[in-house]
Amino acid sequence: MTVDVVLSVPLDRTFTYIWPVDRSETPEIGMLVRVPFGRRKMIGMIVGIDKHDGESKLSPDIVLKTVQDILPPEYHIDKQRLELARWMADYYVAPLGTVVPLMYPPAPGTKARGKRRVDAEFPLHDNQTINLTDEQVRALAFVEQRQSDQAYATLLLHGITGSGKTEVYLRAIEKTLARGKGALLLLPEIALTPQTEARVKKHLGEDVATLHSGLSAGERSRVHEAAARGEIRVIVGSRSAVFAPVRDLGLVVIDEEHESSFKQDDRPRYHARHVALMRARTAKAVVILGSATPDMESWHNAQKGLYELVQLSSRPSGHLPNVEIEDMRGDYAADGFSPRLLEAMETTLDAGRQVILYYNRRGYARVMQCSACGEAVSCPHCDIGLTVHLRPRRLLCHYCGFSRDNPRDCPDCGHPEFLPSGSGTEKIEIGLQAHFPDLKILRLDRDTTGRRGSHADILAEFSQGKAQVLIGTQMVAKGHHFPDVQLVGVLAADDGLHLPDYRAQERVMQLLTQVAGRTGRVDPGLVIFQTWQPEHPVIQAAAGHDYQGFSALELEMRSRLNYPPERRLLRLGVSARVLGEVSDAAQVLTDLLRSGLDAANFEVLGPAPAVFPRLRNRYRFQILVKGNLSVNQKAWLADCIAVMKDKNRNIDVIPDFDPAGIY
Ligand code: ADP
Ligand code: ZN
Repeated sequence: MTVDVVLSVPLDRTFTYIWPVDRSETPEIGMLVRVPFGRRKMIGMIVGIDKHDGESKLSPDIVLKTVQDILPPEYHIDKQRLELARWMADYYVAPLGTVVPLMYPPAPGTKARGKRRVDAEFPLHDNQTINLTDEQVRALAFVEQRQSDQAYATLLLHGITGSGKTEVYLRAIEKTLARGKGALLLLPEIALTPQTEARVKKHLGEDVATLHSGLSAGERSRVHEAAARGEIRVIVGSRSAVFAPVRDLGLVVIDEEHESSFKQDDRPRYHARHVALMRARTAKAVVILGSATPDMESWHNAQKGLYELVQLSSRPSGHLPNVEIEDMRGDYAADGFSPRLLEAMETTLDAGRQVILYYNRRGYARVMQCSACGEAVSCPHCDIGLTVHLRPRRLLCHYCGFSRDNPRDCPDCGHPEFLPSGSGTEKIEIGLQAHFPDLKILRLDRDTTGRRGSHADILAEFSQGKAQVLIGTQMVAKGHHFPDVQLVGVLAADDGLHLPDYRAQERVMQLLTQVAGRTGRVDPGLVIFQTWQPEHPVIQAAAGHDYQGFSALELEMRSRLNYPPERRLLRLGVSARVLGEVSDAAQVLTDLLRSGLDAANFEVLGPAPAVFPRLRNRYRFQILVKGNLSVNQKAWLADCIAVMKDKNRNIDVIPDFDPAGIY
């Protein structure tokens, strides 16, 4: 007997192995096996079985190798997840064998060493009994109804931070468990949401486990096996947890469903929200998408009636944060702080309350600039300016990690003086300390959270009131619940509005809404948006909590320009070390696409140099395709790419379907 196996190699074909005679198991589609491949051993999935003499269909001079090992039944890919993997292979044009490894932990079967790690303790503030609001009741009723109908359905839960979404998730999970079904709760970045995790565990107890890349291989295997055996019924995790082998799946919750971290930016470039919807469809499960600023596509689907929409329009605490727009046009804020922000900080701190300051760039200064010719010191491997860091004192490439000392003389004009230009969280912290010398400040960004656990430690310290101010990048915007925070200052609210990406405005809206939501949890808080464009519609909408107004404008623009959700988008990234080779290849590919796709349904943009035209010594071009490619058209595209690569091995072409960003 022989079996056909797919392996995680970039070849879209199967490999045939002899089934070992000394094993009692019979082969089944979806089973994982260990097989010899070249000089290596690899894990593969069985996709075909030949019960007869396998050699009959093969030429006699091919010597088949034998399956070496069969993974335990916990690692069997069940029918639904197998269907999911096949869908992903088609949709993202990836060989099935490269999708399958998403379905099991990196080193399956590894024994977990030692005790389960206990995460940092967080005080949970919500102990009082809760009477659900009418809106929460409506959301739960929808979930229950669809679950009892055994029908796939999606609920979009639109509500600002603190409006009671998590309460709905927890109760929906509870009800799902009561039906004897399992649930998945996906969070954008599990390291950033220890509080949610603690809350879920408190609510649901031993049925719950977390799954994310920060766990050891042993811990991940243990959770995987327990879920597959049905001992763990709820998995909380980041995007890859969407593949967890939860049995009898009845509910998938995606919190902060608009977050781009649900998109994997490495092959296979899947979107966990899309995958979750497909998985729920085959499992006849209910999906809850929750957000204060739903993704345009989700919002559009709700508008069209494809999703049920429930809006949580107020906070149980009764307070929406009050947002002030501070006009920064003028020259008085050289260190980044307007007099208004400083005054509000003083009032807040005098009252014994806490402050969060948000600035979306780490480091001390954006670049070092020659004071004579203005040239900035940039990375030798990437066309990106090097960010200035003080502790330790280095110039650092935020893309590839290259670092160097300050240059003595300008490589362009020889002038011996460089000045830091632009700002970063390190500089903001120093500037703030100068205004308030006795203030205890914590900083939260990639530089202060490198060590494992340090992220949770900083949040715990702030939560316990060991510092009055928390300064940071996007990290301060996400998910935390600090009742003592009375003031949030956004130092540059318009940052990012004009990035060359059709999603730039949506991203700013999301961030501003999120960071503003960090205050006013207990009593009316204050948010100050410092901005150089006070009249900008996005700033206005974010300040006015007007997501609907924003989304109407945004959808109109998307539809006019044929961007998602009007049409789907494909980004083809073409790169190589030699500039001429890249630009030629990108042109050839663009011409192929233009001639192969009908202009009525497809728009091909480019080729154009990418936003970052050179990274890690590779020149980069991009081609955008607007339109809904069929599976056949995608296969044709894959062939075009394969032919190109055959002609020139130095060219790399990466298709990214539904890209999270265009860079
Ligand atoms: P979100 O997930 O939208 O940020 P949460 O579910 O965390 O909101 O709710 C915010 C706070 O309000 C929590 O402390 C929660 O316990 C509380 N809460 C939620 N729903 C209600 C309710 N119906 N009545 C009173 N308090 C509520
Ligand atoms: Zn670099």
